[in-house]
Amino acid sequence: MLAAELRLHDVRVLVLEKETEPKSFVRIVGLHMRSLELMAMRGLLERVLQHGRKRPAGGFFAAIDKPAPKDLDSAHAYLLGIPQPVIERLLEEHAVELGAQVRRGLAVAGFEQDDEGVTVELADGERVRSRYLVGCDGGRSTVRRLLGVGFPGEPSRTETLMGEMEVGVPQEEITAKVRDVHESHRPFWLRPFGQAIYSVVVPAEGVGDRAEPPTLEDFKRALRAVAGTDFGVHSPRWLSRFGDATRLAERYRVGRVLLAGDAAHIHPPTGGQGLNLGVQDAFNLGWKLAAQIHGWAPEALLDTYQAERHPVAADVLDNTRAQMELTSPEPGPRAVRRLLTELMDFDEVNRHLIEKIAAIDIRYDLGAGPDLLGRRLRDIDVKQGRLYDLLHHGRGLLLDRTERLTVGGWSDRVDHLADPTAALEAPAVLLRPDGHVAWIGDGQRDLDDHLSRWFGTPAG
Ligand SMILES: Cc1cc2nc3c(=O)[nH]c(=O)nc-3n(C[C@H](O)[C@H](O)[C@H](O)COP(=O)(O)OP(=O)(O)OC[C@H]3O[C@@H](n4cnc5c(N)ncnc54)[C@H](O)[C@@H]3O)c2cc1C
Repeated sequence: MLAAELRLHDVRVLVLEKETEPKSFVRIVGLHMRSLELMAMRGLLERVLQHGRKRPAGGFFAAIDKPAPKDLDSAHAYLLGIPQPVIERLLEEHAVELGAQVRRGLAVAGFEQDDEGVTVELADGERVRSRYLVGCDGGRSTVRRLLGVGFPGEPSRTETLMGEMEVGVPQEEITAKVRDVHESHRPFWLRPFGQAIYSVVVPAEGVGDRAEPPTLEDFKRALRAVAGTDFGVHSPRWLSRFGDATRLAERYRVGRVLLAGDAAHIHPPTGGQGLNLGVQDAFNLGWKLAAQIHGWAPEALLDTYQAERHPVAADVLDNTRAQMELTSPEPGPRAVRRLLTELMDFDEVNRHLIEKIAAIDIRYDLGAGPDLLGRRLRDIDVKQGRLYDLLHHGRGLLLDRTERLTVGGWSDRVDHLADPTAALEAPAVLLRPDGHVAWIGDGQRDLDDHLSRWFGTPAG
């Protein structure tokens, strides 16, 4: 995502990936509303929809089964279930189409930075020179470790096995058992998935060496420990394990080196937010880093990446901590879960939790102003069709109902749509390339101040 965002601004990008082949195991992830909005903003939504299954937006907070209220504030008010390898492939194709270079089988092993750039050393001894380096290298990030950035938080307390395999008993038997086990153990499921294949998730109880990859025997042992039967599982397609560590990088930037995605934050998968959070980090960072590289970034623009995204990740970590408590089988957390389930009958409570998980509630702190300032603008109707269709090139946009404002010397970075019909509750708004509202008002001088603040000095 970051490579593509940088390419929109004509920055030369090299992606280094240590694996020679894309990941083979198929984890289904959910793209939540804000990520779907980002796809729409870059013209990728149709492509993504072709490979996923739309599901209702509700029922994700701690897996509490409540339908979403009808009037959610998004034109894309659903969740898209899509295999993670597919979304990774689609994003890679998008980046490559835009001109990013991807080199596989190359692991970053070290780097040094100076005033002009970063020299990256690869495991095979090759050296690569670049202006900036962004570590998007996952929870065990080499870049974060080499930077010496702290990763405080809580270590993993429980481990869960996850895999795909065939089972040797009828579906009715599985359904009945899963219902019983749910009373005492979560996460736990055996869900049919394609022809005769089941997705199996079970707490890793009774499983030995956690440093080793799990085996089918580990799955059988864990299933017997919680369900009293191993369901005759056999013929695994893939087997994996994940923990519930919760950690947040102390800094997202040291000089010319930055962190994004799981390299910056890890948390349990409850609520399905990790990939979404990382994609949204990249969307926030891309245009700012491009501005810095092209030399038009106002001072401190690049630092707004950490100022804006670090609190968002802290909030996601907190909501996953809360969700993990709510899935505990202990009597206290179960009582709190029952109470919250009742409270979610109130639409406002349900909506609050859905908006949090779907990341459409985010308001960056851009100073005092109307509530819309710092929030993302939904995909509204405009004169030419849909607002998000006007954002495909990753430029700023002045949406102007006054018909007397101008973007003047910033027209090489910011588009101007004079549209008195726009479904907008303000005379004019300035949108950043990530779709967040940077200014609301009707005065040219005030607008110019904000254009300078976000887009640097005007041309000419
Ligand atoms: C069971 C489970 C279910 C999940 N479900 C969801 C969900 O429903 N929704 C959701 O949003 N998220 C979900 N997640 C989280 C999601 O999978 C991660 O947040 C996401 O993969 C993070 O992406 P990333 O690119 O930051 O890191 P990664 O996916 O870890 O990618 C990092 C890449 O960097 C490469 N790399 C590592 N070190 C180096 C190096 N030194 N040099 C070069 N390359 C390197 C790796 O090979 C890898 O390809 C789930 C996670 C788990 C475990």
